[in-house]
Amino acid sequence: MSKNEQAQVEIRQADIVIVGCGAGGMAAAIEAKDNGAERIIVLEKLHAPGGNCIFPPLPLANEDGVLKMACMDDNTLLDDDLRLNPDITVRTDANFKSAMEWNHWRGDARLIRTLINKFEGVSDWLKSNMEPADFLPDPEVNRGKLAKLLIRFCKARGIEVLCDTPVKNLLKDKNGRVNGVLAETKDGNKIQVNAKSVIISTGGFIGSKELMAKYFHSYTESVFDDLCIMGLRHTGDGIKMALDAGAASDGTVAFEWELNRVPWLNNPVSPLTNLLNNDIHPDLIWVNKNGERFADESKLNATNSWYRLPHKTCYILLDEAMKNRIIKNGPVKMPDFMIGLDLFAGLDDELKDQEAKGRVKISDSWDELAEFIGADPEVLKATVDEYNSFCDKKHDDMFVKNPEYLTPLRTGPFYVAKSTLAMLVTRGPLKVNTKMELLDTNDDPIPGLYAAGVDIGGTDSDTYASGVACHSIGWSLSSGRIAGENAAKAAK
Ligand SMILES: Cc1cc2nc3c(=O)[nH]c(=O)nc-3n(C[C@H](O)[C@H](O)[C@H](O)COP(=O)(O)OP(=O)(O)OC[C@H]3O[C@@H](n4cnc5c(N)ncnc54)[C@H](O)[C@@H]3O)c2cc1C
Repeated sequence: MSKNEQAQVEIRQADIVIVGCGAGGMAAAIEAKDNGAERIIVLEKLHAPGGNCIFPPLPLANEDGVLKMACMDDNTLLDDDLRLNPDITVRTDANFKSAMEWNHWRGDARLIRTLINKFEGVSDWLKSNMEPADFLPDPEVNRGKLAKLLIRFCKARGIEVLCDTPVKNLLKDKNGRVNGVLAETKDGNKIQVNAKSVIISTGGFIGSKELMAKYFHSYTESVFDDLCIMGLRHTGDGIKMALDAGAASDGTVAFEWELNRVPWLNNPVSPLTNLLNNDIHPDLIWVNKNGERFADESKLNATNSWYRLPHKTCYILLDEAMKNRIIKNGPVKMPDFMIGLDLFAGLDDELKDQEAKGRVKISDSWDELAEFIGADPEVLKATVDEYNSFCDKKHDDMFVKNPEYLTPLRTGPFYVAKSTLAMLVTRGPLKVNTKMELLDTNDDPIPGLYAAGVDIGGTDSDTYASGVACHSIGWSLSSGRIAGENAAKAAK
C-alpha cells in the first residue's frame, strides 16, 4: 500500500478480526470473547448479519441430549438408530462412522471426529445463553431464530459488528504471519483492522461462477439458470483470499442440496413446495424428460440423481387422491420444526396460478401431460402403468422403493410439476487442522489464520453427509467455536 493510500485508511486495532458474520463467524466471536479475547471485530459484507444461518432451525437437544433435528438420510428415523442413542459415546461413534462411510474415507477423519464431538455440546452452549422466552415453541419464527439468538449473544458481549464492510485482502507481516485485513465500506472508505489473528467464515462459493466452474462436478454454462439456489449467493471471498495467502486446498469439495423444490420459488413455506417435498411425502413419482423414472423417490439422498438430468430438471407426478390424502392426513413424515405450520393453505390456488404460468400441468389426459413434459405419451403411460403394478404387488422391481411409500396414480386429475435441484451451500475446500488453523501446502499452519463454517474442506467428499446429526449448521457452529477458542488462546 502506498503512503498516499495509507493516509486515507482508517486503522483499527483488535485481538481478533472475523471475516463474515454468519454461523461460523458469530460462534467464533462468542467463543473467543468467552475465552478471554478483549477486542473482537466482525466484518460483514452484507447490510445485515446472519448469513445463511437465518435458514436452519435451532439445533437443540431433548432431555436425553439427543438432537431433535437429527439424521435425515433415509426419510425414516428408526427408534433403534444408534445416532439417536441417549449414550453420547454410542451416538458420536455412530455419527462418525456414518460420516466416514459417506465420504469413503476421503474426509479428514480426525477433523470430522473433532467436529462431531464438539457439536455434542452445542445444544447446551446455546441453551446456557438463552432466556426463558426463547424456549417458547413458535414454529412461525423457528427459522431465523438461531441467527437472531447468535446476534443477540454477540451484542450482549460487546462484540463489534460492522456491516456493509466487505473484507478485500488479508494482511501479513514480514515473517508471513497474517496480522489483519483490509476492508472497504459501501462509501468506498477503507478500513484496516490490525489483529493478532484472523478467522475466515465467508459461507462458501455457491454464487461464484469462477469457483463453481472450478469445483462443481456438474458445472455447465447454464448452471445459474438451472439450479434453484435457496440461500445467499456467497462468492467465496474468504476462500480466494486464503488461497492467495498460501492456504492449501483440501481436495474435497461438497455441495449441499435442499430437497426437491419448485425452481421459481425460493420460499420454503409455499404450499406447493410443501406438497412436492419428498422428505415428507416420499410417495410422489419423479420422471425425466423422457417420461421415465430414474430413482427411488423415497430416498433423501436420491436427490443426487438429479445432477444427471439435463438442466437438473425433473417432473414430479401425483394424482388427485394422493393430493387430497396429503392435505387431509398431513405429511407422512413431519420434521419437528414444521409441526404446527399450516402447510397447505391456498394450495389449489397456487396450483392453478402455476399452471397458468406454464410450470404445472393439471389434466385427466396422460397425452396432455406427456406433451407438457415433452415426452412420448406411450413412454409416460408405460411408466405409470409399471409403477402402479409395483404398488399392487408391493415391490418396486426397478428401484426397490420402500413398499410403504408405493401409492398408485389412478384418480384424475393428475398433476405434473416441473422442478429442479435446489442448492444450499458449498463446502470446502480450505485445508485446516483440528484447531481450525489454515494449513499451507506442506500441512504447516499459516500463523494467525483460522477458518470456520462451510469454507473449510475435509468434512465431506462430493456431496454432504446429510445423515450425520445436524451436520451442516452443527459443524459450522462447532468449527466456529473451535476457531474462536484457539484464536483467543493465541491472542493471549
Ligand atoms: C436455504 C438454506 C437452508 C439451510 N437449512 C439448514 C438446515 O435445516 N440444517 C442445517 O444444518 N443447515 C442448514 N443450512 C446450512 C447452514 O445455513 C450453514 O451451514 C451455515 O450458515 C454456514 O455458516 P457459515 O458461517 O459458513 O456461512 P454463513 O452463515 O452464510 O455466513 C457467512 C457470512 O460471511 C459474509 N461474507 C462473505 N464474504 C465476505 C467478505 N468478503 N467480507 C465480510 N463478510 C463476508 C456473508 O455475507 C455471510 O454473512 C441451510 C442453508 C441454506 C442456504
